Amino acid sequence: MLTDKELDDRGLKATLVHHPLVQHKLTLMRRQEQSSSAFRALLREISWLLCYEVTRDLPLEMRDIETPVQAMKAPMLEGRKLAFISILRAGNGMLDGMLDVIPSARVGHVGLYRDPDTLEAVEYYYKVPNQMGERLIVVVDPMLATANSAIAAVHRLKKGGARDMRFVCLISAPEGIAAFNKSHPDVPVVTAAVDSHLNDHGYIVPGLGDAGDRIFGTK
Ligand code: URA
Repeated sequence: MLTDKELDDRGLKATLVHHPLVQHKLTLMRRQEQSSSAFRALLREISWLLCYEVTRDLPLEMRDIETPVQAMKAPMLEGRKLAFISILRAGNGMLDGMLDVIPSARVGHVGLYRDPDTLEAVEYYYKVPNQMGERLIVVVDPMLATANSAIAAVHRLKKGGARDMRFVCLISAPEGIAAFNKSHPDVPVVTAAVDSHLNDHGYIVPGLGDAGDRIFGTK
């Protein structure tokens, strides 16, 4: 796994989440003997913690409230509209955890597949909340591998009016971060780990295998 310094030396821009709970849970998820139900539960729990990280700079405003003891001014979220956008299908595994933390967020889904002839990303599903330009958009997908689908999804969201976006994943490949940074330098990446490289099949090494299969128990 790459360190912050190694990311820096390679010119890769991503926020690595070092929290020990995130790292511990990620290790449990990587283990091949983990059941789908445990994998899903761990992904939900890690998503809580990644959600804290990606929202750490949300603006607060002071509001007048009354406790049972006395009145005070207390901080509350400014009421910024927020949306989580899942890149199908593995992104759905992160939604529940994100929504546990911010239940009022709207949710969108983007589905893309790669055309085997042209290798272009082709959209097969796109359903997102209204007023995308006014929302903070958190795009979720557990694996940033080649980044082809993440790049295409963010392009599509920008076309749909999204302006302020962040991308959150569990594991990234250096190749994926480089490609994503190049296409979308304005979209910060938050990740729990940056692994060694991609193999010939586009899997992250050592990674955790196919996240979608592990979440849904398919193969
Ligand atoms: N998608 C996955 O689910 N796993 C990888 O390693 C790469 C892409």
